[in-house]
Amino acid sequence: MAQVEPINAFDDNYIWAIRDTPKKQVWVVDPGQAEPVLSYLQQHDATLAGILITHHHWDHTNGVAELVDAFPGITVYGPEHSKFNGITHPLDAGDTIDILDFTLTILRTPGHTLDHICYTNNALCFTGDTLFSAGCGRLFEGSAEQMWHSFQQFSQFSDRTLIYCTHEYTSANLAFAAAVEPDNDNIRAHIDWVTAQRTKGLPSLPTNFGLERQINPFLRANLAHMCHHLPPHLTYSTQHPWNNFAAIRAWKDEF
Ligand SMILES: [Zn+2]
Repeated sequence: MAQVEPINAFDDNYIWAIRDTPKKQVWVVDPGQAEPVLSYLQQHDATLAGILITHHHWDHTNGVAELVDAFPGITVYGPEHSKFNGITHPLDAGDTIDILDFTLTILRTPGHTLDHICYTNNALCFTGDTLFSAGCGRLFEGSAEQMWHSFQQFSQFSDRTLIYCTHEYTSANLAFAAAVEPDNDNIRAHIDWVTAQRTKGLPSLPTNFGLERQINPFLRANLAHMCHHLPPHLTYSTQHPWNNFAAIRAWKDEF
């Protein structure tokens, strides 16, 4: 069984490595840098078998060219109609791909960017910059309505499904989550756990849907109390099901 491990990049990115130990093969998700991937491969005496891209942003793609130079002919999976031009095999919603012993299905999740996709086999989901622990990606290209629709697809996952997102933003996200829900004891408890992990230099990830359904304001946006502490200048209506989501996202942008 392949295992998933974090490779640290930049200040707070994780490049997720999917590694098959007997085959000595690795796939990486969103290599914004090549150097830490090359070091990881050397450390594990492994070769790079391919790359998965969730969206076009530079901190998810800037390492691709150098990695393809080092391992010519490898597959680079990524979204159709992406602004990143290094994708060899474009993917659309519902496509499936075989990565070592994982079969991954593609979810289209526009919102953070229009091209964003997630990769899932139901036991795990690589969510890129769509879903973070206790948070979600900023709306750089899509609308709150699009992101809300993208999030609806996450309801298919069991509580045990693991979430591998690209950024270690959990502490800052939890501070916001606590402002949205001051009485949520699960958020308080998770702040303590994440603080202990980070003090030891360990990641707060992967997380899982069971936990996120208890602490993540964007998975809880439709609960009636979620806008009770909204700053007065951020008005919202209940006309559409995504209005709470939009209001909470706008609040996070200025938090
Ligand atoms: Zn991004």
